[in-house]
Amino acid sequence: MPNSKRPQPGEDTLGMNASITRRDFLGSTLLASGALLLEGVAPAELLAADDEFSGYGGVGEYSRSNGNTLEVLQAGHKLRDRAYDRLPADTIDTGETYDCVIVGGGISGLAAALFFLRLAGPGKAVLILENHPIFGGEAKQNEFQVDGQRLIAHQGSAIYLVPYPHSFIARFYDSIGLHAPKLPYQKWAGPDSEMVLGRTPYDSAGLGRGQYGFWFGPKFGHTDGLWLLDPVGKQMQGAPVAETTRKELQHWFSGKAADQSKFEFPKYEGDPASRLLDSMSLEQHYIKHFGVSQDTIREFLSPVEGGGSGLGPDALSAYCDYAADLLHPFDDGAGEAVQMFPGGNTTIARLMVKTLIPQSIDGPVSVDGVSRGSVKFDALDSPEAPARIRLSSTTVSVRHDGDPAKAETLSVAYTRDGKVFRVKARSAVMAGGSWTTKHIVLDLPQEHRAAYAQFYRSPCMMANVAVRNWRFLYKMGISGCRWFEGVGNYMDVCRQAIVGVNAPEINPDSPVVLAVKVLYSYPGISTEEQGHRGRAEMLATSFRDYERPIREQFTTMFGAAGFDAKRDIAGIVLNRWGHAYLNPQPGFFFGINGNPAPRETLRSAPFGRIAFANTDLAGTMDHRYSILEAQRAVNQLLDQVLRS
Ligand SMILES: Cc1cc2nc3c(=O)[nH]c(=O)nc-3n(C[C@H](O)[C@H](O)[C@H](O)COP(=O)(O)OP(=O)(O)OC[C@H]3O[C@@H](n4cnc5c(N)ncnc54)[C@H](O)[C@@H]3O)c2cc1C
Repeated sequence: MPNSKRPQPGEDTLGMNASITRRDFLGSTLLASGALLLEGVAPAELLAADDEFSGYGGVGEYSRSNGNTLEVLQAGHKLRDRAYDRLPADTIDTGETYDCVIVGGGISGLAAALFFLRLAGPGKAVLILENHPIFGGEAKQNEFQVDGQRLIAHQGSAIYLVPYPHSFIARFYDSIGLHAPKLPYQKWAGPDSEMVLGRTPYDSAGLGRGQYGFWFGPKFGHTDGLWLLDPVGKQMQGAPVAETTRKELQHWFSGKAADQSKFEFPKYEGDPASRLLDSMSLEQHYIKHFGVSQDTIREFLSPVEGGGSGLGPDALSAYCDYAADLLHPFDDGAGEAVQMFPGGNTTIARLMVKTLIPQSIDGPVSVDGVSRGSVKFDALDSPEAPARIRLSSTTVSVRHDGDPAKAETLSVAYTRDGKVFRVKARSAVMAGGSWTTKHIVLDLPQEHRAAYAQFYRSPCMMANVAVRNWRFLYKMGISGCRWFEGVGNYMDVCRQAIVGVNAPEINPDSPVVLAVKVLYSYPGISTEEQGHRGRAEMLATSFRDYERPIREQFTTMFGAAGFDAKRDIAGIVLNRWGHAYLNPQPGFFFGINGNPAPRETLRSAPFGRIAFANTDLAGTMDHRYSILEAQRAVNQLLDQVLRS
């Protein structure tokens, strides 16, 4: 369905001036650029802060915490610039001493608190320091109110797998109130004939069933775009690409690319097959074993096919593609292994908080309870509770009080509301991630610093576009699509789990949120450089300068099918994650050239009274690893550090 020639849409046509709530942005424009300059903020941030940065944040409890907030980014850059190596004279001593201070209130930090309180014996106290206005880390959600319906979408961490019933993860889920991991989902309703819809935005459920489209734009010589509907069924015939590329893409997207006779799949982490994979890039692996050329990989598969690690195959270890599968087989035989709450793993984070601090969320400890209940922010940091969560608090330094081998306590400093505070701790779990941990543990040994220097993380922006209906897609006969230029790469309509939402049915007139994941890859330059460049681009672009191309792109792609940006877009929320994904380079998992794997230096033992967690230590961005790394870190403190 080629689009007809049309003039460039103007601001009004695109709905840029429509009265959607996006204009309630967080007041980031109030931050004077002069003040930021004095604070040594990079020009990229200045540009973003000078215009709109946060943009519209949706409604509800997460409306002030979409992605990394500007305040969090500014505080992070002060850390990077070592502004707190010496604490200011007016640092406030709170007089508190905790058995364990946990840095980071994402799934790993929350799990560390749960494990510590369950295992360390009675009477213990833990404090979680989290820099965002709400807990969850990358497991957060956006909420929209569209035509009377509450819509929920994930900001980052999305899917989980149904674990084996007696596995550690199953028992953990059960312990936080996730007793039945297979969820009920919306059912098709209404007069229109049913279209296949996945349960998650990653399913591409229509691809193998003829209900999917590939869009080719100006990059391929089609100024107004060319749709190839049912690309798999049509064997890519009609795609504006060279014949060799067409054959490669046909092979890849038909799912036949993996010629199992050509290489050995890893069976367990660390076996010879996984080590071999880790010795090469994913790109080399695809070329050698899947018969795809470098040009095709870089043009069409990057960055989406990167083992879920943010960058493209050129930058990643080939083991990335297999690591998560080894934790638990992806396929349960019934096609129901992959599950997703409407807001992704936000619900898992909320269940953990409710279990840690029962008064923290209204209602029962159940998936529906925590999805509908309100957070009692006052109860999160109550002196009576064994676990306290202190939000909007950026940890700026962690240091042993004396020789790390002998010290009995740590001093932990954090900033909040422009002031610096200090608490004491008998132990600490650093669950915030490599990019801050390496700066804030001030007495970190050189070996650990060298290890963390090999952790590269790249940005990601989750653009959640709430539309009043998706009839335009239905009219085209598709439930999802992919494109190869512009903002993002793909999107999918999915049936939501009926948890915390009141719409048990879906049809083409239902309002939905289309999640457009924006990754920043620049194949060919170093992994580290790709991360820096992507972050600079993402942080320097104002809300408006993302909003307009998104509206334009939707208009160009779907205008002929009746889509009207002004009428149909109900709201756009941008969730910018500066250090979204760890990008494991070859050798990250098992070491290379006789050198140890960087993660092992940090995982093998605590440093003094400090143990290290966060999913990035596993090399795989998966909340199950967040939990497993937290369990290991807490066990290390209990086994090797804490005598009482
Ligand atoms: C776009 C995207 C999609 C994903 N999809 C999935 C998915 O489908 N399924 C899945 O299982 N996983 C997914 N992940 C991976 C995700 O990282 C994990 O699931 C999990 O949420 C990570 O939890 P964590 O606690 O290890 O790290 P984080 O979520 O990063 O939590 C760390 C927290 O510590 C805070 N922090 C850092 N430094 C400091 C400091 N100095 N002081 C105070 N606080 C600090 C951070 O801001 C953050 O809030 C996805 C990730 C992204 C970015």
